[in-house]
Amino acid sequence: MQVPFIDLRKQYQTIKDELNPKIKGIFETGSYVLGAPVAEFEGQFAQYCQTNFGVGVNSGTDALILALKALGLGQGDEVITVSNTFIATVEAIVHAGGKPVFVDILADTYNIDLKKLRDKITPKTRAIIAVHLYGQMVQMDEIMKIAKENNLYLIEDAAEAHGGSYKGRRAGSFGDIGCFSFYPTKNLGGCGDGGMALCNDEKIAGNLRKLRDHGSAKKYYHDLVGYNSRLDALQAVVLGVKLKYLDQWNRQRKQKAKLYEKLLSGVPGVVIPKTAAGVDHVYYVYVIRVLAALREKLQSYLSSKGIGTMVHFPIPAHLSEAFKYLGHKEGDLPVTEECSRSIISLPMFPDISDEQIEYVAQEIKNYLQDKTV
Ligand SMILES: *Cc1c(COP(=O)(O)O)cnc(C)c1O
Repeated sequence: MQVPFIDLRKQYQTIKDELNPKIKGIFETGSYVLGAPVAEFEGQFAQYCQTNFGVGVNSGTDALILALKALGLGQGDEVITVSNTFIATVEAIVHAGGKPVFVDILADTYNIDLKKLRDKITPKTRAIIAVHLYGQMVQMDEIMKIAKENNLYLIEDAAEAHGGSYKGRRAGSFGDIGCFSFYPTKNLGGCGDGGMALCNDEKIAGNLRKLRDHGSAKKYYHDLVGYNSRLDALQAVVLGVKLKYLDQWNRQRKQKAKLYEKLLSGVPGVVIPKTAAGVDHVYYVYVIRVLAALREKLQSYLSSKGIGTMVHFPIPAHLSEAFKYLGHKEGDLPVTEECSRSIISLPMFPDISDEQIEYVAQEIKNYLQDKTV
């Protein structure tokens, strides 16, 4: 049996009759960037996420950069986030002129350890980026309380949590700005790069719109130095069709995660992920932990059995070459570092079959059988 880490082809087959005419329609209008299809999808996605405004941009990375800029952040401002995230979260802080400050994570949910957050706040701190990693939202009551008490902006990096929620409220609707990526592999993914920033404040939405289009609200009238970071019409129509299926696909992901949980809980040497109270986890990826010394060997073994796995992420941001200048050393974020050595992401996508999951779980058991202490 072959179990790819992700397979997007099956999903296309289920929606192609609906998708293809929409794509053809864009070519027939001859209008490709922003315009009515983008405005329509911005409205649909903002409504789905329970916010007032959506601003479509080029990528999730740009959504984060523009979000920081739209809130007026700049040179020397400290922004608190985690090191166990896709590098874009941290790059965005630097591109906006800020300094990333890292907090360690919890070993069971892999999300920010809120008990350690307050210690990182200094007079220079201006914002927190809450990363809803792997599809699981951060404990929002607590992090919003900390942000409010310390007069900090709160940005959500919801690039891995489309449709996820905390106490019934959707990811991306809590912070001053919620940022999403529509990279093809995400829970809601386009056929190329794309992203969106959501907010409830009209002025912030106006700032975001200007920033994404060369600082202008009216063509050739440039109020500020902006970017070329516009969403295109092709992405908008593809995403508009897929949005209708997002809840169903997330339900499928959750069923598959339940099956992994049933098959892998209690298996010696395997730590399965935990979902914190109040969270509806949408499993962008399904991440387990094994002994660090066995991680790569298990990956090779699974690969030899036709099973694709990944590591999200093998080198935490604070130890990455790019952020060496921040002066971090090994041991600064012990839980983050331990997780980076022991995590494995198992195959996960809405159309993966139960049989495929059973096969993956069985092969993990086969490999670990005689290897655990
Ligand atoms: C994917 C991702 C991003 C970046 O999104 P792009 O669209 O690839 O730029 C940012 N943060 C997290 C947590 C992500 O997973």
